[in-house]
Amino acid sequence: MQSIIRAENVGFAYTRVPVLENISFNVQTGDYVGLIGPNGGGKTTLLKVLLGLEQGTGTVSLFNTPLDKFKDWHKIGYLAQKSPVSASRFPISAEEVVLMGLRGCGSNVSVCELKRVHEAMQQTRTREYAGKIFHDLSIGQQQRVLLARALVSKPKLLILDEPSTALDAQSREMFFNLLGELNQQQGVTILLITHDTGEVGKYISKFMYVDKTVIFFGTKQEFCHSAAVAKQLGPFAQHTIDHLHNHHGHCPLGDDCETCAHGGRAHA
Ligand code: ADP
Repeated sequence: MQSIIRAENVGFAYTRVPVLENISFNVQTGDYVGLIGPNGGGKTTLLKVLLGLEQGTGTVSLFNTPLDKFKDWHKIGYLAQKSPVSASRFPISAEEVVLMGLRGCGSNVSVCELKRVHEAMQQTRTREYAGKIFHDLSIGQQQRVLLARALVSKPKLLILDEPSTALDAQSREMFFNLLGELNQQQGVTILLITHDTGEVGKYISKFMYVDKTVIFFGTKQEFCHSAAVAKQLGPFAQHTIDHLHNHHGHCPLGDDCETCAHGGRAHA
């Protein structure tokens, strides 16, 4: 299995105070990683270091290539926490926003580029807003247009920083279903910062818990067993976050689930 993001002993400090220390992990093809942790724990900073937007120490490789030699940026779609497009009042259409996701497109838009834009808008169910002014759309619609922009170069890796914060419950569900489809049907690898573990938990295959360093990185099942996670969150939160215990009754670990206070039954 190909390594998509490899971090070895990564560190970072904005001033002299370290924000990230000794970060090591390996995201592989097809992984859907939920990046969780306390506010101020360094999640956003870590994404920026991985993308070379901040200069860290240690080693980062993307698609098996060291970060300083990596050129295939079209393979990566990034949805930042605060998009400059959302902040600006410039009267730009939704379609033009998506077009911005194609590198090197000037004023002459090729048919090929337009086709890509339409495809990405189809995927994110935003074709119907193509001609509308981006700012007139609801937050949920804007977020899906920004996702179309992140998808337009057909990335193999999507990196998203809390994309659901401003969304209502319905838009959130639609957004996460869409990401689940991209991961499961098209094999797009996803690294997502989220507090929405309840909604997104059913799609995520791995968790990474970061509080200055990696407290935990592994599958949902391993998350359930992890003493390090139990120490950070307490067993109750540990077992609700992983989404294995919610709604449908039994914990898949059954009687092996030592820390589950409810004997492997749902907490909900
Ligand atoms: P998280 O995403 O987990 O909430 P952040 O990566 O945003 O954490 O922040 C980690 C730490 O770095 C926090 O203490 C935050 O105040 C600090 N920080 C974030 N951005 C900057 C910045 N541009 N300059 C200085 N400190 C920053």
